[in-house]
Amino acid sequence: MTNSSPWRATVLTLFPEMFPGPLGVSLAGRALASGLWQLEARDIRASATDRHRSVDDTPAGGGPGMVLRADVLAAAIDAAEIGQDPSKERPRLLMSPRGRPLTQARVMELAQGPGPLIVCGRFEGIDQRVIDARGLEEVSIGDYVLSGGEIAALALIDACVRLLPGVMGKEASGTEESFSGGLLEYPQYTRPQLFEGVPIPEILTSGDHAKVASWRRAQSEALTEARRPDLWAQIPPKPPNRPRRQKTPKNKTDG
Ligand code: SAM
Repeated sequence: MTNSSPWRATVLTLFPEMFPGPLGVSLAGRALASGLWQLEARDIRASATDRHRSVDDTPAGGGPGMVLRADVLAAAIDAAEIGQDPSKERPRLLMSPRGRPLTQARVMELAQGPGPLIVCGRFEGIDQRVIDARGLEEVSIGDYVLSGGEIAALALIDACVRLLPGVMGKEASGTEESFSGGLLEYPQYTRPQLFEGVPIPEILTSGDHAKVASWRRAQSEALTEARRPDLWAQIPPKPPNRPRRQKTPKNKTDG
């Protein structure tokens, strides 16, 4: 990627006024204003062809709610891709509760590319034929159902944008976070030294960087084991001579 073609998110939505929304403030907002990334929110309804500008219809086979029409959405996707350099194909995502759960690894891949086209569903969902015909990758942000894909798209874009070069003050802040090494992040502390009678763990103010690093690693391991057995199961077992993990502070674990 060069400065002449910054990372770009194109969002197809029935509610373009929801963008940039929270992405217009703080880190992402400053980066947007300074041209480190671009955002294009396109109204799916602009591709409706009947005089009522309808975008949805009743589900084939019956059932509650409405379904986003394949022809309207396909036209919206095609219109968004007019003039796109075919050698720089962008990922086409569909925010969907039945998609693959979004991971930090996928976020990193997306942040390294040209930026995705993101379809936000509404109603009961989207006609399957357009998902297949346009090769949409279904992405979920969690095992719960939102009323539309916009909030999910905002979350995905935010996760990508903060990894773009120049967006975070300190580049290293992205590499030590939760998930980047397969573990959750260790607990953080700052001033005051004593808060409601609880001091900052002594080791963090010792100035011994090696000990701090090993304490943090132990804390990360303890948190991951307690809270996310799914992630913990993927961490290779320790060599037998490795020092035992230190205990996590009581208020920092769930279990
Ligand atoms: N009937 C669908 C189902 O049971 O899978 C749920 C549709 S939901 C009310 C409407 C839209 O919200 C979806 O098409 C999707 O775009 C978005 N959405 C809802 N939950 C989501 C999640 N967990 N992750 C990503 N997108 C989600």
